[in-house]
Amino acid sequence: MSKVLVIAEHLNGKLNAATAKTVSAALALKPEAIDVLVLSDAPDAVATAAAQIAGVTKVLTSANAANAHAIAQVLAPQIVEIAKNYSHVFGPSTTFGKDLMPCVAALLGVGQVSDLMAVESPTTFKRPMYAGNAIVTVEAPADHIVVATVRTASWPEAATGGGAAVEAVSVSAALPTHTRFVELAAGKSDRPDLQSAKRVVSGGRGVGSAENFKIIYDLADKLGAAVGASRAAVDAGYVPNELQVGQTGKIIAPDLYVAIGISGAIQHLTGIKDAGTIVAINKDGDAPIFEITDVGLVGDLFQILPELAGMLASS
Ligand code: FAD
Repeated sequence: MSKVLVIAEHLNGKLNAATAKTVSAALALKPEAIDVLVLSDAPDAVATAAAQIAGVTKVLTSANAANAHAIAQVLAPQIVEIAKNYSHVFGPSTTFGKDLMPCVAALLGVGQVSDLMAVESPTTFKRPMYAGNAIVTVEAPADHIVVATVRTASWPEAATGGGAAVEAVSVSAALPTHTRFVELAAGKSDRPDLQSAKRVVSGGRGVGSAENFKIIYDLADKLGAAVGASRAAVDAGYVPNELQVGQTGKIIAPDLYVAIGISGAIQHLTGIKDAGTIVAINKDGDAPIFEITDVGLVGDLFQILPELAGMLASS
């Protein structure tokens, strides 16, 4: 029987929703147990939240000042020590997991299953390749611990209502000092997190400038949405690259995705394949984005958006 260790992603004492999605993937294995590991300097609040996830057997915590920041090289040896009791180690395929899990796999001497999107058996999984244009079935060796990143856009958050026990564990692994936290440079925003937002409004090259992007931020704020962008908009310097959606940006699955002045290149569409309702505003009626939209508005964004904002204000 499988025993899965899920690595909790968290920031500032808050559990990231990617963890509950990773638990969903773990549940698909029908395992004997799913334990969530919280590595932090102060794990209590995160552990309490993780214990609420339905299907979690136990939450393990390791409090260590060295875990104040999620540095892959520091976290990985601790995970490897605990992983010895498990058949599978899963982390989310987010920036956090993509950084951390390959280190875990390397220290365990196994190959990593990346972007797990479906479970066929405890060692057989489906994952996308070629920017999501092909789905490949991969088989992990049965006699090794399976290390995988879970494609969060493919899995719903596991329900809450669980009541797992929380257990502090001590870890004796020697931690490297060659990699240290220096500073975190991140844009400050009160908007929802792009990766986990239920609604996302994205702008592309058609928006035309950083100043014009205000119209995108305004619509996002009216909808309570996160802001995203195409790579062309990022490359042109309209917005920071943490907002990029797509193959080389963030893969997201909001309930509502609004693409404004975005043509719909395959590399962009890869990032929104699992979105619920897709709306596009583009002045070119032949833009490829319209092939995948649920609602398409053909017209000039600078005319349509103020009209839309007016309607939202009066509704
Ligand atoms: P464009 O393709 O230039 O489209 C702009 C659109 O705006 C047009 O359709 C135009 O009709 C419309 N428009 C212009 N003015 C207006 C107006 N006033 N009103 C309404 N509509 C208007 N791209 C990503 O987005 N994410 C990725 O992660 C990504 N990764 C890549 C990885 C690789 C290896 C490669 C090769 C490319 C990648 N790209 C990625 C780039 C991708 O191929 C496209 O170049 C990019 O997505 C185009 O961005 P865009 O749609 O904003 O720009």
